[in-house]
Amino acid sequence: MRKNFVCRFPDGTSRNWRDWRWQLRHRATSLSALARFLERPSGGGEKLRSALSRYPMAITPYYLSLIQPDNDQDPLALQCVPDAREAAFSAGLADDPLREDRSMPVPNLIQRYPDRVLAIVTHRCATYCRHCSRKRFWKTSEDSSLKSRLTAMVRHVSKTPQIREVILSGGDPLMFDDASLELILSAFASIPHVEVLRIGSRAPVVLPMRITGNLCRILKRHRPLWFNTQFNHPSEITPDAARACNRIQEAGIPVSNQSVLLKGVNDSPEVMKSLLNGLQKISVRPYYLFHCEPARGCNHFRTDVRTGLKLMDKLRQSCSGLALPQYVADLPGREGKAPLWPLSRPIRNALRKHQDFFDNFEELD
Ligand code: SF4
Repeated sequence: MRKNFVCRFPDGTSRNWRDWRWQLRHRATSLSALARFLERPSGGGEKLRSALSRYPMAITPYYLSLIQPDNDQDPLALQCVPDAREAAFSAGLADDPLREDRSMPVPNLIQRYPDRVLAIVTHRCATYCRHCSRKRFWKTSEDSSLKSRLTAMVRHVSKTPQIREVILSGGDPLMFDDASLELILSAFASIPHVEVLRIGSRAPVVLPMRITGNLCRILKRHRPLWFNTQFNHPSEITPDAARACNRIQEAGIPVSNQSVLLKGVNDSPEVMKSLLNGLQKISVRPYYLFHCEPARGCNHFRTDVRTGLKLMDKLRQSCSGLALPQYVADLPGREGKAPLWPLSRPIRNALRKHQDFFDNFEELD
């Protein structure tokens, strides 16, 4: 954290800083607010304003404090500060590349496999990641109450005995207060055939103060529960983030990491190695490295697959097997996650029908 950063807020006491609700209330949500903390133009160009009007901004003071203010290529800034290139709503890119909307038996519940469902419990996030493949939701209001959304989802899971695992996602499920989260977890856990719950949340990375003792007690009550988060750069592994992960682990909940391969952020072997080793040091399992999806507003983050394959080859030579994630591409429909590395001929042939998902696919021979 930058020295004395907390003093830049009129009510910035260390007690407030540690309060996740204070962090949410003080998020930077406009370019003029951002210009108070980073050396950025407060107005931006027309394209930037267009991107911002389509994809809003929110950055917690905590995450802002990790950014180098005078470096516009700071890897954390790239992940959260709006970019004019988001306004390049190119043909060939889709709002919903995985066609998740077609896999919803009831609103907000995605079922792409017989035995698992993913519940979009909210559209809100503490910090909006500019590379998010669900950024189409950011401006969509949650048009009904949590209870009515939950009732429809729970009804579907209850009458589908093949479903053994429910993944709470979004948005970020940890945007709810503890009571609401307890309600959601209990509703799914009380279904007899649901054996495992999973939470996908970036809170340990962008809002580690959300991982409170009370939250961990709630999570502990709902084991077996798995926690997946998303560190993308070694600078995100701070003492606060490490403490947050440790608290979850001490509640008996394994923490795994799903990074996204992002141009300019983590597409070099040195940075990725440092990230993976850092995760291993805090006992967070590097699980997936996702090839960045061709979602509208994210194109400037995409690398081609060859970059990812070379990166994995380098990492294999220099990292412990325990620290190596699976490099995968999430594909539409039931095909799910295709392992990209090591790239075998059968996998390459299977990927051919989705070659619009990959830049320079034909160079992979
Ligand atoms: S926390 Fe997850 S859902 Fe929210 S903006 Fe980031 S990647 Fe998207």
